[in-house]
Amino acid sequence: MTRLLLIGPPGAGKGTQAVRLSEACGVPAISTGDIFRANVAEETELGLKAKEFMDAGKYVPDSLTNDLVRSRLHEADVAGGFLLDGYPRTTAQVDELDDILAAGGHSLDVVVLLVADSDEIVTRLSKRALDQGRSDDTEEVIRHRLDVYEEQTAPLIDLYQSRDLVVTVDGLGSVDAVTTRITDALLERGIVLTLN
Ligand code: AMP
Repeated sequence: MTRLLLIGPPGAGKGTQAVRLSEACGVPAISTGDIFRANVAEETELGLKAKEFMDAGKYVPDSLTNDLVRSRLHEADVAGGFLLDGYPRTTAQVDELDDILAAGGHSLDVVVLLVADSDEIVTRLSKRALDQGRSDDTEEVIRHRLDVYEEQTAPLIDLYQSRDLVVTVDGLGSVDAVTTRITDALLERGIVLTLN
């Protein structure tokens, strides 16, 4: 049973690694970014509200994001654990997640921090813009997203470090190399993930 967070700047490779790791530990990967994008595509009420923030590279307000995660974490498939990708991103979201978990008598097992330098990130995200056509991957919006990350999300690392939950992994290199680095780092903490 694993309750794991993936944290790191946009473009560090969280989404890619989240999918692989969730398969390896048999728990769902929950990406708030993916859920928001699906809602935007389907033009739901939530999607319409989230879109303006996303397109500007801003965070969607905590109230909307927390409600979404709260209902997702009450679904049956997360009873055995989950891997959260891109949540929490603010201290208010950390508090919400703590509350949700505590109510079920649970807590986090580990926080994987994926690191990558900003030039590499801008290169990667500009490439993703071409490959996937994401509307928030223009250079100006990317730089803004990095600033927002530094301001609002980077402080969470200290907070989780004070709980001794953080393992830091270099996000540069091939997808396989990064996955191996993560599984090795988790193994050192006694968390065994078997890759197929
Ligand atoms: P991502 O795919 O994780 O980079 O998320 C894409 C965008 O969705 C972000 O730039 C935000 O606008 C929004 N978003 C995703 N997760 C969160 C979150 N935890 N809090 C606020 N906004 C979020």
